[in-house]
Amino acid sequence: RKREGKNGAQVFDASILDRTRERAEIENDIHAALAGNWFEAHFQQIVEIETGRIIGFEALMRMRHPRKGLLPPAPIIDVAEETGAIGQIGEQIFEDAIANLARVSRLPGLGQTYVAVNFSPLQFDSHLAPYLAGILNRYDIHPSRLVVEITEAVLMHDNPEIRRILDAVHQLGCRIAIDDFGTGYSSLSYMSRFPVDIVKIDQSFIRSLGGNRLEEAEKSRMLVEGISAISHKMKCSVIAEGVETDDQRTFLKEIGVDCAQGYLYAKPLGIADLMTTLAHTDHE
Ligand code: C2E
Ligand code: CA
Ligand code: CA
Ligand code: CA
Repeated sequence: RKREGKNGAQVFDASILDRTRERAEIENDIHAALAGNWFEAHFQQIVEIETGRIIGFEALMRMRHPRKGLLPPAPIIDVAEETGAIGQIGEQIFEDAIANLARVSRLPGLGQTYVAVNFSPLQFDSHLAPYLAGILNRYDIHPSRLVVEITEAVLMHDNPEIRRILDAVHQLGCRIAIDDFGTGYSSLSYMSRFPVDIVKIDQSFIRSLGGNRLEEAEKSRMLVEGISAISHKMKCSVIAEGVETDDQRTFLKEIGVDCAQGYLYAKPLGIADLMTTLAHTDHE
């Protein structure tokens, strides 16, 4: 909301000022974090529902701020996409994720697990595939053990350049996952036009599966079942996001969803906690 000031200048609401300050503060934090190595990847298990085995991990960005503690990614990523810092942040998270996958791989039963890394639309330039190949090679990680997570925003404009880049990444042997599936629009057409391997059903659908609004729960079940069936027909595997309850897991298993990720299994963990947790469970 704007008001006219005395001399015709526009006086902004305090809330707008607050937001501007907040944004400037995040921008400063990003600057310091890139220089000081405050970015780190945390890891959340992805589990095969049928067997309960861990098949991979999603890497999720955190900023370890020396004064403010561990900060969540969403506001940081919003600002970083505006300023362009997302490219550098993305590289730090990707390299951290691959270095730590190499460590996790040495544990018995986890040698074939993958890491799924989130990529912003702004990271899709022609250097992406050779860059990924270089880092994977440095850590001796086979490309099939990297899943590139993209949102529908990446695919939205059917941009031939994006398509070439995704094809190159796929040619390397990496798998491609559509994140937050079902939250964009005309999602189904992407599956035929782009080299998609994995569909991640957005947590909003999973949350309403067992909701107490019966009609909504029923519709969500039909949606999840439908998305799963279509994905399988398109030779994609399916991951349910945000799985928090046993009832959700039971339903997902019944309708044949392949994998699940969520607090029911584990929260995202820093590498030290992850290694401790994994070392104390049997993965064979
Ligand atoms: P996302 O890719 O959809 O990641 C899943 C989010 O759901 C994560 O939030 C995760 O902590 C949370 N989550 C996992 N299980 C559950 C559950 O059972 N219940 C609930 N309520 N939430 C659950 P997080 O870590 O805060 O990340 C938020 C978003 O930030 C991500 O959503 C992704 O879009 C973005 N993001 C995270 N790391 C990166 C990154 O390295 N690069 C980019 N470009 N984006 C990232
Ligand atoms: Ca994701
Ligand atoms: Ca998601
Ligand atoms: Ca999301």
